[in-house]
Amino acid sequence: MNVEIIELGDRKAEFVVSDVMPAFVNSIRRCMLAEVPTIAIDYVNIYDNTSVLFDEQLALRMGLVPLTTDLDSYILPSKCDCDGEGCPRCQVSLTLSAEGPKIVYSTELVSSDPLVVAAEVVPIIKLTDGQRISLEAIAKPGVGHDHAKWQAGIACGYKNVPQIKITDECDACNMCVDTCPRGVLVANGDLIKVINEPSCSLCKLCESVCELEGAIIVGTRPDSFIFTSESDGSMSIVELVMRSIDEVKNKAKVLDEYLSIVD
Ligand SMILES: [Zn+2]
Repeated sequence: MNVEIIELGDRKAEFVVSDVMPAFVNSIRRCMLAEVPTIAIDYVNIYDNTSVLFDEQLALRMGLVPLTTDLDSYILPSKCDCDGEGCPRCQVSLTLSAEGPKIVYSTELVSSDPLVVAAEVVPIIKLTDGQRISLEAIAKPGVGHDHAKWQAGIACGYKNVPQIKITDECDACNMCVDTCPRGVLVANGDLIKVINEPSCSLCKLCESVCELEGAIIVGTRPDSFIFTSESDGSMSIVELVMRSIDEVKNKAKVLDEYLSIVD
């Protein structure tokens, strides 16, 4: 397997994975979306709410605020010694008190753990003059498999690496150059040149506009994939990718153990 990084930021990564089966890259994608735990608000004690939102709506909005997640300090409630009762190893408390007129943002949540805070500035509610909210939110680790609020990976996907061939049949009429919406092709004298192959969306408009059969062939490399992924801010994209790969490894190990029992 080969990995080539195209773009790597704190929250976003794009890389090419080669010499692998589609099932392997898909398993990484699925683990990013559903298996890597993050911390999210799961329970809210509302002491005062004179805003326009019902308690349930307010709690729902709180749950969708991405929180920075320190997975070395917290474990899933289902795996905790407290049997899910709630303890400092499997939950964290955040409080929020505000009075209008103002817009209340997620960054006003006061956490009992400085490592678990709002990852994004999200507007929670608009309070008018005299309206108040006062609440305590209990955040717990969980997985996207159970609820989307625990999904660290957003916009995770992959496509086969495009492969565009210009054959000798081509008469350089330039129709494909003008049609391509991604600027993948350029006219170069009597030739058409492919300049930006990875950004091809495989729409095949160039093939359909071409009047000469077989002059341009758009295909893909079956064992190479361009993987794009983004984190919601609960952890860095590097941590998310590495933890997803660990999840795939653990699952493969468990499957291997089951199969050895069947043998
Ligand atoms: Zn616990």
